[in-house]
Amino acid sequence: MLVHNAKVFTGEGESFAFAFRIEEGRFTWVGTDERVPEPAPGEEVLDLGGATVLPGLLDVHTHPALMASLMDAVVVLPPAVSSIDEMVEALKGAEDPEPDDPWIEGHGYDDSRFPEHRSPNRHDLDRVSDTRPIFVRRCDVHTAVVNSVALEMAGITRDTPDPPHAEIGRDAEGEPDGLLLEPNAIDLVYGLIPSVPDDKRISRMARLDQHFLERGIVAIGDLASTFSPKPLELFRAAREQSWLPRLGLYPIWEHIKDNPPVLSDEDRSGEVFIAGVKILLDGAYSNATAWTNEPYPGTCDHGIRTTSPEDLADAAAWARANGVQLAVHAMGDAAIDAVLDEFADEEGWLGDLPSVRIEHSTLFSPEMIARVRDARMPIAVVSHTIFFFAEYKSYEQNLSPEQARIAYPIRSFHTELKHTALSSDAPATAHSDADNVFVSVQAAVDRRSWTGAILNPDESVTVAQALELYTSRAATCMALPGLGRIEEGYEASFVVLDKDIFTIPTDDICRVHVRETWVRGQREYVA
Ligand SMILES: [Zn+2]
Repeated sequence: MLVHNAKVFTGEGESFAFAFRIEEGRFTWVGTDERVPEPAPGEEVLDLGGATVLPGLLDVHTHPALMASLMDAVVVLPPAVSSIDEMVEALKGAEDPEPDDPWIEGHGYDDSRFPEHRSPNRHDLDRVSDTRPIFVRRCDVHTAVVNSVALEMAGITRDTPDPPHAEIGRDAEGEPDGLLLEPNAIDLVYGLIPSVPDDKRISRMARLDQHFLERGIVAIGDLASTFSPKPLELFRAAREQSWLPRLGLYPIWEHIKDNPPVLSDEDRSGEVFIAGVKILLDGAYSNATAWTNEPYPGTCDHGIRTTSPEDLADAAAWARANGVQLAVHAMGDAAIDAVLDEFADEEGWLGDLPSVRIEHSTLFSPEMIARVRDARMPIAVVSHTIFFFAEYKSYEQNLSPEQARIAYPIRSFHTELKHTALSSDAPATAHSDADNVFVSVQAAVDRRSWTGAILNPDESVTVAQALELYTSRAATCMALPGLGRIEEGYEASFVVLDKDIFTIPTDDICRVHVRETWVRGQREYVA
């Protein structure tokens, strides 16, 4: 097939191609001038009418297993839910997809936007129900709030000690207030929710096809695949039922460390594969648990280190022995320094592919960037602009002016580092359309949050640079051969846009839509 009359961003630089040829699912020719060759006899010709074309988009840090598990939960994300009262109303009014299941589950509240200026607590949720247990995750997934029934079922009382690396929220009298901070506390209640049968999980996973196709996303990394049991088996089964993006799975070390599997070549290959293991070295900015060198403004608090050095070393040893990546969640500069101290002088184990990925990468000084650049092993830095766009109030509150100057230095990552990407972390951030790539691209270009405030304008990038971080550069952060470029030999996976993202006003970038998504030469989606 010959595709022409298009403005083709090839994945790199600011110059464009005009036409390409697809044979057997791959690009076999890309034309960089306006001369289009004669079609071969019988060859299909497609005129795109001047539309803008991008390589299929890559979201190397997202959470499809969590998305699938939340498919029947009540969504309380902003902007739809912006106060405690609205959250209570949403939970009360939600249709119950499973009347037999007493649990009410919700996801996505962001108290930093609430006019009440406080977290929701068990008393708020008791207004929804004082007979059914309720479990609601905060947007960042590092905090949950539960009602009194759920606390009682978990046996959490004023005498319950905080689990390691986690905290049970308490009121002024020392009674549990319903808040659970960090996974070890959250799991005290989450572990009680009856597990969903496999066939239901598989069909929820299969129902994610439209979600990714309409966003033009053709490959993803699941940076917490163990939000589902048996993620490799179940996602492979889901892929039999419907189209899904190519999917690299990163189980959470905490979930597999008691019985770590020995991976086979088959586990590491194919369209759904084990790409690595994920470990969380600190908390999150939105609840001031990221682990920082300087204390949080006006406090002596440096956040939380959530993993012991032994666990970090064990996870790395497992990744090395099994030939996969180690992905370390590290937002605060102290956490990132700890990753670099541990790995920068070590020999990598995956050749050119980064053995270690740093996830989120919030506070990154120029010296730290130089350490990554000059490290002995290739290290990937995966970051986000959707975080400061969606959660600006947390950053405003939790960053000193000095810290703000080194927050999310995307331009420096782009300039200095080979292996770097933007990604969404969806649905673990406070925006109901977090993996709309164009929202993140706009924020990378204008550095503007939803409040209108601008963070670190010196670190802005061009539209093409932002898109590189979702295509060719993203492909260097995990094993995604053949993706991220429109270039001879690459997989013919691409998207056609409804607007020219390179020339429209910056404010309109977030309103660009995917008109068509093509995967290996097949048009899988038309808007
Ligand atoms: Zn994540």
